[in-house]
Amino acid sequence: MATHVVIAGGGTAGSIIANLLARGLHEEISRGEVVIKVIDKEEKHMYQPALLYVVFDRFRENEMFKDMRDLLNPSVIFIHDEIEEFDFNANAVRTKSGKKVEYDYLVIATGSKPRPDLIEGLEENGDIFYTLERAKKLREKLRKFDGGKVLVSVAAPHKCPVAPLEIIFMLDEYFRQKGIRDKVELGYTYPIGRVHALEPVANWAVPEFEKRGINYETLFNMEKVEPGVIHSMEGFEKEFDLLIAIPPHKGSESLINSGIQDGWVPTDRHLLKAEGHENVYVCGDTTNLPISKAGSTAHFEADVVAENLIAEIKEGHPARDYDGKVMCFIETGFSSATYVWFNYTTPPNPVPPSKMIHWLKLGYNRVYWLTARGIL
Ligand SMILES: Cc1cc2nc3c(=O)[nH]c(=O)nc-3n(C[C@H](O)[C@H](O)[C@H](O)COP(=O)(O)OP(=O)(O)OC[C@H]3O[C@@H](n4cnc5c(N)ncnc54)[C@H](O)[C@@H]3O)c2cc1C
Repeated sequence: MATHVVIAGGGTAGSIIANLLARGLHEEISRGEVVIKVIDKEEKHMYQPALLYVVFDRFRENEMFKDMRDLLNPSVIFIHDEIEEFDFNANAVRTKSGKKVEYDYLVIATGSKPRPDLIEGLEENGDIFYTLERAKKLREKLRKFDGGKVLVSVAAPHKCPVAPLEIIFMLDEYFRQKGIRDKVELGYTYPIGRVHALEPVANWAVPEFEKRGINYETLFNMEKVEPGVIHSMEGFEKEFDLLIAIPPHKGSESLINSGIQDGWVPTDRHLLKAEGHENVYVCGDTTNLPISKAGSTAHFEADVVAENLIAEIKEGHPARDYDGKVMCFIETGFSSATYVWFNYTTPPNPVPPSKMIHWLKLGYNRVYWLTARGIL
């Protein structure tokens, strides 16, 4: 009997794991001893960090997508279907089309989803840039915008914790280049008592805000949005002409349907196994770990999950631990950036922004596809 590895989700984590397994278990797959399957509801894989650049007309749609089948090693079986439920007792997932896909090992990599519907009035009265359709809509609004109050308002949890900082720094430069910065009041709100979840990043960001004349308010949790005004749970309100919100996120509906609260799977922080399930790994945004929901997190975790699965299948035990490694570039405008690197024991320490780091980020935007293929 072959060993079946099923990967739920073919995004950043899922595609890296599938491709690393295809290489590491090449002989076993050729002999029919191992079968790797990826299930995804989408046929195309989107490079999500490009959405930030779409807002400013700096990334084209055709460069953001690749066909899932082309991205995956030919020995990986791709199933285009939506998972409706995980049946952990039966070691199977059930799909919308009625399939029951059984596994010996499961990897849950179904990511996270922005949920503007969780805040009253946000969908109708605010803008977001976390989906392609909404990013393009915001781009059109910005093209026509000629002055007023622009507010970036952040809810938690959300993926890419540095994206709100990046968009506000890019907005500042965008309005300067357009020659209307003096007609724009730029504001930012954050739900906890500082401007970023990571304290060293918050300490670095405050002088960057002040240098650019960006107003900020902390302990502001979005409650309700009406035309031109946003209310916080703390009882404050802010007026805006353009609201760019980062909505709260949840994990996949399929996990919520399977009894997992908010879709965040309880996960062992080192082994990346689902708590209570020896044959289930969890990777990327969908873990409940208190670390950044970022592509780089998914990437570093995926390396560990793939190596451990290969070791388990070949030798009967996992090989190594995840150390909490995350690395994020932070754009500070259109021509400079900084980055943070941290793990469970070493806090982040943003370096002074430079052109070189910005170019590195632009370069990475192009070589991402090598990462998804499990090469870089
Ligand atoms: C605007 C923006 C900017 C970002 N910038 C950065 C950045 O600069 N650096 C960085 O590191 N990260 C960044 N990120 C975050 C990064 O894209 C995510 O953290 C990363 O993609 C998470 O990988 P994942 O594999 O966990 O989830 P995803 O890549 O989202 O993949 C999840 C996959 O699961 C599939 N799926 C979900 N539910 C089901 C289901 N029920 N059935 C079948 N398939 C399903 C989805 O279709 C998807 O293909 C950014 C994100 C956004 C939105």
